[in-house]
Amino acid sequence: MAQVTLKNVFKRYDNKVTAVNDLNLDIRDKEFMVLVGPSGCGKTTTMRMIAGLEEISDGTVQIGDRVVNDVSPKDRDIAMVFQNYALYPHMTVYENMAFGLKLRKVPKADITRRVNEAASQLGLESLLQRTPKQLSGGQRQRVALGRAIVREPQVFLMDEPLSNLDAKLRVQTRAELIKLHRRLGITTIYVTHDQVEAMTMGDRMAVMKDGLLNQCDTPMNIYTNPVNMFVAGFIGTPSMNFVKATLVKGANGYTVDAGSFKVAAPPIDDSLLAQYAGKPVIFGIRPADIFDKSLKNPVEATEANTIRTLVDVSEPMGDIVTFYLTAGPHQLVATIDSETKAKDGEALDVVLDLAKSHLFDPETEQAIR
Ligand code: ATP
Repeated sequence: MAQVTLKNVFKRYDNKVTAVNDLNLDIRDKEFMVLVGPSGCGKTTTMRMIAGLEEISDGTVQIGDRVVNDVSPKDRDIAMVFQNYALYPHMTVYENMAFGLKLRKVPKADITRRVNEAASQLGLESLLQRTPKQLSGGQRQRVALGRAIVREPQVFLMDEPLSNLDAKLRVQTRAELIKLHRRLGITTIYVTHDQVEAMTMGDRMAVMKDGLLNQCDTPMNIYTNPVNMFVAGFIGTPSMNFVKATLVKGANGYTVDAGSFKVAAPPIDDSLLAQYAGKPVIFGIRPADIFDKSLKNPVEATEANTIRTLVDVSEPMGDIVTFYLTAGPHQLVATIDSETKAKDGEALDVVLDLAKSHLFDPETEQAIR
């Protein structure tokens, strides 16, 4: 079993910067866990502590049943693929992949078998005799992966392994990595600052900010139930809309009053809403949950979910149009089906899917739920 467990892990630099702050994380056997967050949030530091390249200031890191705090990187049974996947330029693909095994004095027949197996898994068979400079960026990246796979490690650590690839190759290699993980079933921890990678690749993802773990769950649960405004805004593109409003209790239940528009409150327990009655809240709704009233929509328009907006700018994207709308002083982004006839500078009535909307506490920025 190669689960990886971080318990109360801290990393302090010079007793000043707390790069990782009391991190608790349980990565299950065979799981693909994505660590995601903005630059400087502590992702790489976390990986380097798991790898043994960085000392742990406090807490424990466990791989399988073994606490590895004092185990050297080469004895942790992990393989790493990092952003700068430096291949040895004077060695062939075969030699690059075999090198680590040779150092470990693995018998030659085993090396040949493992390299050939990895090459076939990664579609590198025909490239084994080439040198890195005779390869494309994507092929080089696959060799770097191959070098990790031949080690048959218990755990893969990948730190932004796709960041040197162009957009198209990134998407392609992303899919290959997912397939590879399904085939090999090796516990994988994958660092990225790209929320699309995090959404599409991980069984679960851990969203970090300023050294703190904010939320760890499946991508879908995080998308639908973010714990705070940071997670809500970071995951999903375009970002969730946030509108300053007041929660008002009326005869027919609670209303979100944003001044220039009023809508019914999201489906949140009345006892919770009662605590915010008459108080400021932040109303959150994703661009994909806003619809053009004049089209056929999954939600029926009612007085309680429809608002009048003005189209500021629209950006056709093919299947959808991204609209930048205003409703009084508020700005809203909406991704609407391209059937829409709405035009820049014109009024547009939009329907909000309030079942998918959110409320946040303006002070703590935590979700009210
Ligand atoms: P990025 O996506 O930019 O790589 P990250 O999330 O991986 O960022 P880390 O590299 O883990 O972030 O850095 C976390 C914090 O620790 C940052 O504030 C960084 O400046 C700080 N830090 C990292 N290494 C050191 C160091 N050797 N000495 C002091 N501070 C450091």
